[in-house]
Parts: sequence; C-alpha cells; structure tokens
Amino acid sequence: MPALPSSEVCPGCGAVLAPVSDGGAVHPGASASCARLFEVTLRGLREEAPADAAAATVVRQADDAYDAQHPVAGDPARLRAALDRLGVSLDGTSTVVDRPPGAWRTTIADVAADLDVIDLAVLVESWARSVHHDWSAAASSRT
Ligand SMILES: [Zn+2]
Repeated sequence: MPALPSSEVCPGCGAVLAPVSDGGAVHPGASASCARLFEVTLRGLREEAPADAAAATVVRQADDAYDAQHPVAGDPARLRAALDRLGVSLDGTSTVVDRPPGAWRTTIADVAADLDVIDLAVLVESWARSVHHDWSAAASSRT
C-alpha cells in the first residue's frame, strides 16, 4: 500500500506542508494543503468581512497576495489584476509582470506560523508587501 508522502511542496509559493487527504479548499496553481491553510487562516476574517470594512480590506489584500503567489497557467489577467490591486493598495504603483520570482520571502505558511503572536491584519500586510517586492525584484532583474 503506497504511503502518503510526509510533505508536499506547493507549486505556487513553494510552501512545504503536510498533505491533506480530504480535498476541501482548492485554488488553481496551489497544492491542496496550501489552499487549505489559506482558507483556514483567513476563515475568521472572511466571516467578519461583510459587516466589517477593515476586515474586508484585509481579506481582499490576502486574496490578491495569494493569487499573485499562485499564478494560474493560461489566466494572466487574473495575475495582472491581483498585482495591480496589490501595488495600488501598498504604494500606488503597479508591478510590471515579466516572470515570476524564483523564490518567495514570505508565504501563507509564514503567516499562519506567526498568527499566535501577531495580528492577522499586520501579517497580511507584511506578506502582501513581500509578494509585491518579490515580483518587482524579479521584473527588474531581467537580462
Ligand atoms: Zn502555496
């Protein structure tokens, strides 16, 4: 009987996570375990978002950061839109999409790991900033 691998690498952000066997959250471009972690981490805020504008802003930024880190092959418009919103929400600039970064400084796994000690809104903003920066650095390092 084949054993489940003890970890899987997300094809989008590279996060190494224990595999989940029961499906659940799905995000194109992401491993099931990564999509699940994102869903679980944001669940509370997502429930508050309809009645709380601040929570809604954080959720939107998290969705854009996640989309920017998990590009969907064949759907460049989704990536483009996510990067545009990220840039505008952070510093008013738009990232030039050239090629994806080779590595990410921060992923949803880092956000989830710090959740006990740091407010989610702070973590999401710093994650979004790092994703935006990684894309900008990749765009400007082309030869
Ligand atoms: Zn991922």
